[in-house]
This record gives sequence, structure tokens and C-alpha cells, in this order.
Amino acid sequence: MAKRCIICSEEAEYKIKDTPDYYCKGCAEENFADLTLLVRVEEEAQKLKKFIDEKINNEQDENHEQDDYSGEN
Ligand SMILES: [Zn+2]
Repeated sequence: MAKRCIICSEEAEYKIKDTPDYYCKGCAEENFADLTLLVRVEEEAQKLKKFIDEKINNEQDENHEQDDYSGEN
């Protein structure tokens, strides 16, 4: 599922925010003097993972609350 650099097809480490353009580190540095314009692919993946984890945890918490209620009765 690794993204490929659109220039040299190496494994991409960076992408331009809000676009489907991916770059490896070398091409990113060559084409963009300022790497802050780019997002680390890894960070995006981490963010997504965190979002999913939180969603799962929230759902589990809700289930726990329901268990507590039925225990009181
Ligand atoms: Zn490249």
C-alpha cells in the first residue's frame, strides 16, 4: 500500500497537502526548497490511525456504560 514518487517511482515519503501528488525525499527536496509545504506520508497515516483508534475506544466506552447500567438493575 506504499505510495510511489510521481517522478522516480521510489517509495514516497512526502505528499503535497490536499493533492494526490507523492514524492520521495530526494525529489521533494529537489522540487521544493521548503519541505513544510509537504506532509510526511507517515504522519498522515499516523493521524488516520489515531482517528480510527479513538473512534474504536469511544465505541468501547459507550458499551461499558451500557454494561454498568444493566448491572445496577
Ligand atoms: Zn522521487
